[in-house]
Amino acid sequence: MEAAVPDRLDLSAITAVLAALVDAKLRADYAPWYPGCSQHPPRVEIYASEERDGGLHVHFIADSYVYNQAQSGSDWADHYIYAGEATCHGPEARSHSFALVEHVSLTELQTNDYDGDAIVASVRERIVASRAGVPIGDDATAALVRGMHDVTQAKVDAVHLRGARAEPRPIHEAIRCPRCGSTNAGIIELVFEMIRLTCQACGHTDLTERDGLEKDWTARLPSNTRELPAFLPPVERSGGA
Ligand SMILES: [Zn+2]
Repeated sequence: MEAAVPDRLDLSAITAVLAALVDAKLRADYAPWYPGCSQHPPRVEIYASEERDGGLHVHFIADSYVYNQAQSGSDWADHYIYAGEATCHGPEARSHSFALVEHVSLTELQTNDYDGDAIVASVRERIVASRAGVPIGDDATAALVRGMHDVTQAKVDAVHLRGARAEPRPIHEAIRCPRCGSTNAGIIELVFEMIRLTCQACGHTDLTERDGLEKDWTARLPSNTRELPAFLPPVERSGGA
């Protein structure tokens, strides 16, 4: 008997579903000023994703810029930015939560040189930094944002198909945080000969050479390990220092 092939997790379908959810929330909260004369659905950006319970758990930012033409007086605009997460099976969002994180109100004059993308980028960096427990504006945060801000259909397919394979391959070694042991850690940047690593669990970061990667951050796993544990023993500390 053939194993069932799971539904493809289609990012564009998931994005459309999330846009509809945010659109409904905006209509409920901001009528009659939303959608106004705007014809565009909210823009949705999935900036991180992981496989969860056979579905795709996504972290997203959604925003809508609405320009309102006044009957009399000056025009104005509103830029609404939401952030949230959802677990999707096929294109259906089985669970979701999101909230308004930024609302910028602009006069007609202010709309001229308003950079909405820059505001969205700053919101994204703030959220990623707080999830990773690293300071905003830090080099590590910027690298983390660049690394996370790269969810593509090809990557989703690769993870999903790997998850669907009946017999996972054995794992021989893994990168784990030397301080807390979390395996939610990894290389975020290569700086010439140096490697920058960070732990998403405790925020510990390190700039090291290849021997440091092997000595401090790499753990050997018992043979026949097929699933990566969330935590592995951290580096043993010598008593004194
Ligand atoms: Zn850690």
